[in-house]
Amino acid sequence: MLSYEDARLKVIEVTAGLRRIPARENLKLQNSAGRILAQEIVADRDYPSFDRATRDGFAVRATDCREAGAKLRVIGEIRAGGEFAKGVSAGECVQIMTGAAVPQGADAVVMIEHTRTGARENEVTIERAAESGMNIVPRGSESRAGDVLLRAKTRVGYAEIAIAAQAGAAELDVYRKPRVAILSTGDEVVAVEAQPGPFEIRNSNGVSLAAQVELAGAEAVLLGNAPDRADELREMIERGLQEDALVLSGGVSMGKYDLVEEVLRGLGAEFFFDALAIRPGRPAVFGICRGKPVFGLPGNPVSTMVTFELLAVPAVDILSGSEARPVPLLKAKLSRGVEQKAALTHFLPAVLDWASGEATVSELPWQGSGDMAALARGNCFLVLHRSKLKLAAGEWVDVLPRRGLL
Ligand code: AMP
Ligand code: MG
Repeated sequence: MLSYEDARLKVIEVTAGLRRIPARENLKLQNSAGRILAQEIVADRDYPSFDRATRDGFAVRATDCREAGAKLRVIGEIRAGGEFAKGVSAGECVQIMTGAAVPQGADAVVMIEHTRTGARENEVTIERAAESGMNIVPRGSESRAGDVLLRAKTRVGYAEIAIAAQAGAAELDVYRKPRVAILSTGDEVVAVEAQPGPFEIRNSNGVSLAAQVELAGAEAVLLGNAPDRADELREMIERGLQEDALVLSGGVSMGKYDLVEEVLRGLGAEFFFDALAIRPGRPAVFGICRGKPVFGLPGNPVSTMVTFELLAVPAVDILSGSEARPVPLLKAKLSRGVEQKAALTHFLPAVLDWASGEATVSELPWQGSGDMAALARGNCFLVLHRSKLKLAAGEWVDVLPRRGLL
């Protein structure tokens, strides 16, 4: 059976093969976090654009301060943003503030903490030896005018926003978010607002998938729930195929009323896999139908969540105009031993914390893939790879944080 790693590679290859280039939109810089850049950001000038002091203190000539105790004449001061026309000659210095331009002639800044105002007026004693370049960031050392600061297809985070701001980009061209249709299935499923009958359940997958879609950077289009009847299911799937991708929950197992694959096949879908060597999430299906990626995720809520994270997130990344991000696995120490029998990679509800000073993870008791209550007591999945299904307390283990929580 296919490993989740190979299944992801398949999703990535197939989705990238669609060669969809998303439409663009122009956003205010402050609204662009989490979006994918559709343009480059180029440095409009050298950064810094002058030799910048990184400390409050005195701009000196290092040759005057080879040893501690040099006494220098203070010929003026320079504030951040200010200009100092004169140069600094032998035996002279200038009081300088953080962020100000180092004047001609000076080649080091001595921190104010390492100086003492002299007995005489306008005299300062430099109490440490200075080296050329000390506490100065030279002009152009961060970037040069014309350098590409951000490449197209970069994901915009706060540092990217800062560098775009520095370069004067008050607006950014970004790609439009892909629209991901979400369709749950099942005769037993009723709306969240409804009072379920004794053997019915509320539709939690629709809204949890919508949250996952949005955390992955796409727009969720909630289509509601389809009953386990081929005609109605087909109609709602066709509606979903109008969006950039379609995610279904339920109806992909071996039951008599699991119709998703059959209906998709009837609509001309090509499938790339319909089972994975994972638990929960084994019956996950991926295909292309009418040119759109379609994920048939199992209906058990924890299975739906795990398979969305592993399979659908990389497709969302590509449809967003970017590259697929890796699965963000962390390492943590096991607080208690764990063991699983089935030769599958297991994703177990768990709590990750740093209270002991290092990342520690504890498996939570749970009732299997329908037990979203257990998942909600934790913040991550403990990942037990099928190559090593037994680990003792104190061993390092992979952890998959729950997106948006950690
Ligand atoms: P299925 O994959 O259709 O066989 O469903 C597996 C389990 O997940 C069943 O217990 C379903 O009742 C449950 N389930 C299916 N769809 C949903 C949903 N939208 N919300 C919550 N649970 C669901
Ligand atoms: Mg079902």
